[in-house]
Amino acid sequence: MISIKNLHKKFGDLEVLKGIDADVQKGQAIVVIGPSGSGKTTFLRCLNTLETPTSGSVTIDEQTVDFSKSLSKKQIMAFRKQSAMVFQHYNLFPHMTALENVMEGPITVQKQDKKLARKKAEQLLTKVGLGEKINEYPFQLSGGQQQRVGIARALALEPKVMLFDEPTSALDPELVGEVLQVMKDLAAEGMTMVVVTHEMRFAKGVADEVLFMDEGRIIERGKPEDIFNHPKEERTQRFLNLIQ
Ligand code: ADP
Repeated sequence: MISIKNLHKKFGDLEVLKGIDADVQKGQAIVVIGPSGSGKTTFLRCLNTLETPTSGSVTIDEQTVDFSKSLSKKQIMAFRKQSAMVFQHYNLFPHMTALENVMEGPITVQKQDKKLARKKAEQLLTKVGLGEKINEYPFQLSGGQQQRVGIARALALEPKVMLFDEPTSALDPELVGEVLQVMKDLAAEGMTMVVVTHEMRFAKGVADEVLFMDEGRIIERGKPEDIFNHPKEERTQRFLNLIQ
């Protein structure tokens, strides 16, 4: 479903991604772990072209973009549609209800029929356990509920791939579980997911594979039981010793 080849990203002189190669199969849930500043968020944002890679290529479901070449806006837009992102800080529109937040993308970006978009938004909010809250505004919702709206909003774009950027990091501890449960359900349904998270229990329980990043490179990749119990690389061991 996803194929990443020799991906580089520089911010000025700072090379944050130093040649990432990775493949993700359809239906896989991949968790990306690694020290702060290792490039995990930048990597995820590059997959959605929220950051434009400096070079390399990414294929998502047969749509390939080669960032070494100049790309038209149309090419970028077509590529961006393949995935949807869930952010750490939800980024909901404060003046819109949960329902309106979820309908917004399909109506403005995808020019969908309003009635249809509303019906789909209702279904998605019900799916994430918020059927009773569709007319509430973000300030009336807990952080966990707001993040579930964020997930419904991303799903409304009908992406092939869901990208999660530390989706529970801003939440009070007692609200983390409800968001992880929604993500767990999505993984069980076969959604292809790439998740940057510090929730090692989620990584152990849900990930098909774990990628360990350090200093802009993927250092090690494997099944959660192998990465957590028998890491091969010294840097992975050191990181896991610090957090476990
Ligand atoms: P992680 O998610 O692993 O903590 P990030 O991808 O957020 O790492 O950041 C990797 C490095 O890139 C950091 O040194 C960070 O300061 C730098 N960085 C991230 N975004 C930008 C940006 N927009 N401009 C300049 N530097 C950035």
